[in-house]
Amino acid sequence: MISQSLVIENYGCLPWLCYSLEEYYAPVWSRSSHTGLVDVQSNSTMRLVSGTLRSTPLLWLPVLTNIEPLTLRRKAATDKLVEKIIACDNWPIDSEITNHPHACLPRRKPLWHDLVPVDIRSQWKENWKSPQVVNFSLMDDPTIRQPGFNLLQQQWSLLNRFWTEQGHCGASKKKWNQAATDLCPFYEKQMMSHIVDSCPLSKLNGSLLQVHSADNEAFAWLISYCS
Ligand SMILES: [Zn+2]
Repeated sequence: MISQSLVIENYGCLPWLCYSLEEYYAPVWSRSSHTGLVDVQSNSTMRLVSGTLRSTPLLWLPVLTNIEPLTLRRKAATDKLVEKIIACDNWPIDSEITNHPHACLPRRKPLWHDLVPVDIRSQWKENWKSPQVVNFSLMDDPTIRQPGFNLLQQQWSLLNRFWTEQGHCGASKKKWNQAATDLCPFYEKQMMSHIVDSCPLSKLNGSLLQVHSADNEAFAWLISYCS
């Protein structure tokens, strides 16, 4: 058990190790059209750490790993640099910010394109309220470390898959052509929410809300579901 915990702790360092590389000189390149390629690698690492599937909505990944979204971190790093530049008016670059040249190429996004500073946590909360995020109502504050973070990898991964509605259920297996039917033994469509909320074979009385709390009963339910 101790060794597994150590493995999880080491896995937990992975995003931070990647972030130090991914954010290197971010104010210079963060407005490039190729920034998405960096995000792809970062998302892949967060999926590995949280044990979630490729189909997991991207907005969930920073919440599960409790790391601020990359785009907001890059914007905050840019804001910090701009603040320094404006404070040092003897730097040659200061005139580029305060009296910047006319933008000839509209597709370019120079440093002065957006000088309104962003507060990472409030913007993160704002983005989280997007109706596109499945089960966003489970939590009011996505910026805090969510319950179950200290569980072993197998249980934590399963917990994350129930929250995000993306796991190995009948509906997913049929979509991936791994099963002929998406029905459970009671002939109802087996989605992750069905398993925990309503299936007589496996439901938890407290439903998904209790799974989110990761209390003792939810933990026992996860253990029995894993076995
Ligand atoms: Zn069922």
